[in-house]
Amino acid sequence: MQLSRRALLALASVMPLASLPAFAQDKGTVGIAMPTKSSSRWISDGQSMVDQFTAAGYATDLQYAEDDIPTQLAQVENMITKGVNVLVIAAIDGTTLSNALENAAAAGIKVIAYDRLIRDSGAVDYYATFDNFKVGVQQAESLVAGLKERFPDAKPWNVELFGGSPDDNNAFFFYNGAMSVLDPLIADGSIVIPSGQMGMDVVGTLRWDGAVAQSRMDNLLSANYGDKQLHGALSPYDGLSIGILSSLKGVGYGSGDLPMPIVTGQDAEVPSVKSMMAGEQYSTVFKDTRALAGVTVKMVDAILQGGEPEINDTSTYDNGVKVVPSYLLEPISLGVADIEKVLVESGYYTADQLK
Ligand code: BGC
Repeated sequence: MQLSRRALLALASVMPLASLPAFAQDKGTVGIAMPTKSSSRWISDGQSMVDQFTAAGYATDLQYAEDDIPTQLAQVENMITKGVNVLVIAAIDGTTLSNALENAAAAGIKVIAYDRLIRDSGAVDYYATFDNFKVGVQQAESLVAGLKERFPDAKPWNVELFGGSPDDNNAFFFYNGAMSVLDPLIADGSIVIPSGQMGMDVVGTLRWDGAVAQSRMDNLLSANYGDKQLHGALSPYDGLSIGILSSLKGVGYGSGDLPMPIVTGQDAEVPSVKSMMAGEQYSTVFKDTRALAGVTVKMVDAILQGGEPEINDTSTYDNGVKVVPSYLLEPISLGVADIEKVLVESGYYTADQLK
């Protein structure tokens, strides 16, 4: 979109500067729809994309939807109407955008699913993400390593399972990856699930809401742990881990003779990194949002400059209509000993942010 200097000045007189859309330098405008600012990872994703797209000569229109599906839909529709050149979307509910994406396709706007797969639509051109099954494997492997380390003599270990949001395709990959490690240990009796609650239909946490995980943990503890000690909780996301840890602390875990159970996580968000440094959360999985933004910028650049985006997976992500060509990055399992090197030395966080 090109506006004359006069038109821009006229706009500026009626709009606060911060709400002015960024206008195309040369190469086009990228519409970026992110789910929510309530989790810092999506703020980092958005910021990294704006920085890297700008450096590559693109204008951006970045929108957050505060986890509200109609808001995200309206934002995407609006971007299509405004005539962005490409859409990059991290969907709230991976199935609700189909009609809007048909309109995008009809207008010749390519769509990249960002981090989360958009399901049930033929109008998704590419997918940039991490190896989501491996995230789950890493979470479960660190859970098991933690159980061995903190509770070497307590076998069978009492564990409870938490899943992500059932409307997010990733949640199933995380859960299935984790269960590929845990199922054999449940089968051989090394791990028991005292609540009996297993399967994404039972352990899922709508909208990845930490408060929901906290109250579910409260209920699990009061219903199943009167005379039992919990040793571990599989948590797929730092925001849930913080809720789970609050619940555990509320009944005395982490003090006296009740050691903190092993609690996993994902995203290396600041409250969780601090919790790890305080000896509470055991681990997280770091997914470098700068790298994911980088892959996405390269994809967009290839699409708009008439090239072929680089992909490294053409079989894993079937969205119900097509297998979406994908680029998968490697997640990094992170324990407390890795924080300095992986998060601080790489410049992802400053040492001050973690104080
Ligand atoms: C992302 C995770 C994130 C979760 C909650 C998932 O789709 O892949 O990194 O923890 O959403 O925001």
